[in-house]
Amino acid sequence: MAVLRFDNVSKQYAGGRVALSEVSFDVAAGEMLFLTGHSGAGKSTLLKLVHLAERPSRGAVVFNERNLLKVRGRRVALHRREVGVVFQDHRLLTDRSVFDNVALPLILRGLRRGEIGKRVRSVLDRLGLGDRERSLPTQLSAGEQQRVGIARAVVGEPRLLVADEPTGNLDPTLSAEIMALFASLPERGTSVLVASHDLGLVKRMKKRVLVLDHGQLVDDIAPEDLADE
Ligand code: ADP
Ligand code: ADP
Repeated sequence: MAVLRFDNVSKQYAGGRVALSEVSFDVAAGEMLFLTGHSGAGKSTLLKLVHLAERPSRGAVVFNERNLLKVRGRRVALHRREVGVVFQDHRLLTDRSVFDNVALPLILRGLRRGEIGKRVRSVLDRLGLGDRERSLPTQLSAGEQQRVGIARAVVGEPRLLVADEPTGNLDPTLSAEIMALFASLPERGTSVLVASHDLGLVKRMKKRVLVLDHGQLVDDIAPEDLADE
């Protein structure tokens, strides 16, 4: 079953810029794949259509068999529970502890305090942040900050995680570590779509790769067709 389907999706911003042009693909449940292409190719736009920060101009984005066109108003928040988002700059609340940052999506969801504590500690342990829950984000290294961003995105056990240049600010070793973390998510039931312009890093992961060029999907490469470095 496809967790996500793009069906001839185009996006033209006000002012005339065409960011995506008739893009079609689907993502199977439990799949991890990459989205690559030069700056301005349309990667961020594509991810924004998935978490409803933007709407397509034409075509359909279908998530879990639901056309997102019909997801409006209060349903947008419900949809966003199913889609975790990781940003390059992680967007953590700098005056809140690691624990509070990760707990936030569960608090918004109205879970009980005991349940929240259990889930937050479990995800922090899994991401190697178990001894950091009382720290402020500014007291952490860049790699740790990004892991907190990932913890916040996965604590609600979303069906799909989308990440926009999640390793853009990290050195190669930390980048590889973060990518390995993403690769561990599908076995827990979360599909993963990662946008990155770092083609070397992407190729080393040996996953499916979608290639955007000036808004067009120009390639869809299977893992076995990725040449060895
Ligand atoms: P990428 O993530 O691959 O760098 P983007 O999706 O950010 O690409 O951008 C695709 C194109 O859409 C670019 O030409 C960009 O300038 C344009 N664009 C992105 N966001 C907006 C916006 N809010 N308004 C107008 N044009 C935009
Ligand atoms: P919210 O309740 O979070 O504002 P909406 O469904 O109203 O969610 O809108 C989500 C995004 O889609 C916003 O960026 C909004 O500008 C855009 N949007 C809403 N309605 C339309 C529409 N008819 N056509 C294009 N974009 C729309």
